[in-house]
Amino acid sequence: MTPEAVARADELIARAEAAYLGLAIGDALGATVEFLTAREIRSRYGIHREICGGGWLRLKPGQVTDDTTMSLALGASILAGGGAVKPLSCAHAFDAWMRAKPIDIGNTVRRNLITFRGSGNPCAPPSTNDAGNGAAMRVLPVALCTLGCDEAAVRGAVRAQAHVTHHNAASDAASEFLALAVQDFVRGEPLRNVYRRRLLPLLDARPEFRYQGRRRENPSGWIVETMQAVLQALMETDGFEACLVDVTNRGGDADTTGAIAGMLAGAHYGVEAIPARWLRGLDPLVREKCRAQARALAAGAAGGATG
Ligand SMILES: [Mg+2]
Repeated sequence: MTPEAVARADELIARAEAAYLGLAIGDALGATVEFLTAREIRSRYGIHREICGGGWLRLKPGQVTDDTTMSLALGASILAGGGAVKPLSCAHAFDAWMRAKPIDIGNTVRRNLITFRGSGNPCAPPSTNDAGNGAAMRVLPVALCTLGCDEAAVRGAVRAQAHVTHHNAASDAASEFLALAVQDFVRGEPLRNVYRRRLLPLLDARPEFRYQGRRRENPSGWIVETMQAVLQALMETDGFEACLVDVTNRGGDADTTGAIAGMLAGAHYGVEAIPARWLRGLDPLVREKCRAQARALAAGAAGGATG
């Protein structure tokens, strides 16, 4: 590789790491206030801006939830399979994750993994009800391992992992957008390009994701409300910390909005923008796993992405 290509690959891997750290930080930050309303957060914390554990799960400071641990389980299975995203491997990875008794698990994830145990079919039946944010929240390892792929292959890999538990058009649209947007940011695309190339077409195709106008507070686990909150926080703030404070202080499904906003903002603003106190505050084992996995997934794809 030329020195320029080496520098580009280093930059790409650094942004991939920032995306993964952002996911875990947003999860840990948001979990403290999950299921509180924005009003309850204001009365309890003023503005919530520290990774301090607690919340309904009684977390240790820096502990993460299913958003991060499912992503890590998925990423590990992709790496074990040589970088390929295979539905059956994803389903086995999620099933093993569930057997290890995670501290929390979404209803749709649990139901469709139990169905998988019986059927052996890693693709859940299509359902208009399965429009939760549980497939979108864990899409990052797929985005990183397909950095060198064309758009159709990225979308196919995203759906392969998503459909294990969420076979739903709104979930698919969100998950595919998130993977492609993270890839754009990891490659160094500015926000205005991602807005024009990715977000405007998404909002045309799925007008329910439009976030302009009224502030979306207390977003539920419905992917539509999750996307409204995440997109509004990303587009209407100007830094990593501001974006995560904005989205988690809306309350509701704050660990997942935090995780999704964190992966986008991490990739966009880069690792230098992540506050040192948040990096230090994250569970050290989780922090190192996120770093190592981001590096391994992106390195496998980096040649194609930067060449
Ligand atoms: Mg969670």
